[in-house]
Amino acid sequence: MQKLYYFCILLLSFAVLLPCTLIVKRWRIQMKKIAILGSTGSIGTQTLEVARTNGDLDVVALAAGNNIELLEKQIREFHPKLAAVWNEKKAAELKNNIQDLNVKVVTGMDGLLEVAAIEESEILVTAIVGMIGILPTIEAIKAGKDIALANKETLVTAGHIIMPLAKEYGVSILPVDSEHSAIFQSLQGGQEKALHKILLTASGGPFRGRKREELEHIQVEDALKHPNWAMGRKITIDSSTMVNKGLEVIEAKWLFDVNVDQVQVVVQPQSIIHSMVEYEDGAVIAQLGTPDMKLPIQYALYYPERRYLPGERLDFETLTQITFEKPDMETFYGLKLAYEAGRIGGSLPTVLNAANEKAVAMFLNREIRYLQIPEIIRECMEHHKNIVNPTIPEILATEQETYEYILTKYKGGN
Ligand code: NDP
Repeated sequence: MQKLYYFCILLLSFAVLLPCTLIVKRWRIQMKKIAILGSTGSIGTQTLEVARTNGDLDVVALAAGNNIELLEKQIREFHPKLAAVWNEKKAAELKNNIQDLNVKVVTGMDGLLEVAAIEESEILVTAIVGMIGILPTIEAIKAGKDIALANKETLVTAGHIIMPLAKEYGVSILPVDSEHSAIFQSLQGGQEKALHKILLTASGGPFRGRKREELEHIQVEDALKHPNWAMGRKITIDSSTMVNKGLEVIEAKWLFDVNVDQVQVVVQPQSIIHSMVEYEDGAVIAQLGTPDMKLPIQYALYYPERRYLPGERLDFETLTQITFEKPDMETFYGLKLAYEAGRIGGSLPTVLNAANEKAVAMFLNREIRYLQIPEIIRECMEHHKNIVNPTIPEILATEQETYEYILTKYKGGN
């Protein structure tokens, strides 16, 4: 009798446990597997917030630069198999701190490439800042991963290589930048061929309406105050100079296969319209919303599905105005330089981008004045001998030459 009793208990356990295991297994199989470059930054942390809220994204690999304290917290919460830290010493420290976990820690460019191409992931979020994103993005594409692209510097400098490569490997480049996501959303419905122009909106940044002489004494703290968006330091400075908008014009050229003169920048100070497209028949379609990067991040991760997103909604009963202005390309001439670089192409966009990266870093270090940022970009562009259709080694060499030129000129070669 007792034996029968135990047998029944055993049978019952199987009857309950087996389906549960299968459900969990199926759930794990159905979970979308993602890897993130730059998980400790503004876009990276918001991507993890999206993963936390939805609960069905399996984070398989993370990469960061230096911030191992935050990276460790992320590892303990999301249990990736692989973590990359750019800084070798910090990578060793992290390895030591997470000995209790079964996580492989890698470092340097090899580490970024390993995260980019990790077998398990389906999509790579490129939330890293700067041209360092180029090689890992290429590696991921070659490994057949879709790209949720925030790292605009990659497309600005190597769009002519990235876009055809993505086509060759049949992977999607899904925009994370809010403006490009808005354009992408406005193009849903398969009417890309009838696209006449792109209306790329800009907030105008914290110095909108000011003239050049009024920007003479701008300090780092002033430029880091964006009126509507909370972002990383580099992009916040880029927004204040409008160089960010210029980089976005070139990014749009590659993402949507248009020429830069089909991209019109429209200043919309409230940041409610995230961008628009005008079709051949004059119809304009826009995407509107509150300024929240989680929307474009989530849209890219689940595309073409739309999901519930907690947070503020636009309230058309309290919203009083949406206004428009022409950008002031004389004061913010970094934008004009970006149009020029985008029009000419070749290695010139790399010079624009590299000069801007270095100049912004120097401004943040208080080594140069605010108005020297566009001055340095212009000087580097004038000094450069353009390479038509540059290869990746030529792009990376151009980046180095631009840095060296700036260092020699502004830091006496140190
Ligand atoms: P942040 O400065 O906030 O974050 C950058 C991230 O990149 C950090 O995780 C940083 O790690 C990591 N990182 C930097 N260098 C390395 C490296 N050598 N190796 C590995 N990781 C590295 O930048 P944002 O999130 O603001 O921007 C990221 C990208 O997204 C940029 O290209 C930006 O233009 C674009 N973008 C950002 C938007 C935003 O709202 N923030 C909007 C649209 C586009 P650590 O901190 O650990 O050093």
